Amino acid sequence: CGIVGVLGNHEVAPIIVEALKRLEYRGYDSAGIATVYQGRLERRRAVGKLVNLSDLLVHDPLPGKAGIGHTRWATHGAATVCNAHPHRSGGVSVVHNGIIENFRELRAELAAAGLAAETETDTETVAMLTRLHMDRGLPPREAAVATLGQLQGAFALLFLFDGEDNLLVAARKGSPLAIGHGDGEMFVGSDAIALAPMTDRITYLDEGDHAFVTRAGAEIFDAEGRRANRDMQRIALDA
Ligand code: GLU
Repeated sequence: CGIVGVLGNHEVAPIIVEALKRLEYRGYDSAGIATVYQGRLERRRAVGKLVNLSDLLVHDPLPGKAGIGHTRWATHGAATVCNAHPHRSGGVSVVHNGIIENFRELRAELAAAGLAAETETDTETVAMLTRLHMDRGLPPREAAVATLGQLQGAFALLFLFDGEDNLLVAARKGSPLAIGHGDGEMFVGSDAIALAPMTDRITYLDEGDHAFVTRAGAEIFDAEGRRANRDMQRIALDA
């Protein structure tokens, strides 16, 4: 339901929680954050209000300067910690808004390849497919793009990878996603409102776009995989 990503110069978990709070008005049943710390993916998830996730983070902090976060409105699978985003398979972690329509077919293909689902969600198949491409030798960016080509439905997706603390892969198909430009920091949000405290410089992805985001900026590609220029806008929002 709500997506936030940060490639920052400070600890990102508190920044992501604050940004997710700005999306609370949309409603949600659970929340979670993943970061890369010392090269490794870690995550914390909690059912219910964001304050439950903040409480968890007090007792079990999540360090790292690169991270993704999500507030979930369950469509496939009950509101449990196991089904909460970010989902993870191998070296990739994913947050997702929307529905992957063909997830049952994809899950069957994954099972045939020896990967069994551990959650009831449609989203987990996105992480599993990307993991499979990576296990077969594709680098993270190419693995995410190969996965995007296999998905049907309406979605916004954000990927974070083990060993990569300067990369987010973002994709928009039927569900909005905005990239926020900071000074040596970059942000991604399902709504520019989420990013308002961090930056007012926003680039909206067009329908079918995907982007490779690093602290140096965002490379955007259209639905045909061609490099695309999308205008950066200054957004006036009450912070
Ligand atoms: N379909 C996904 C799920 O049920 C994402 C729902 C959402 O947009 O929050 O986990």
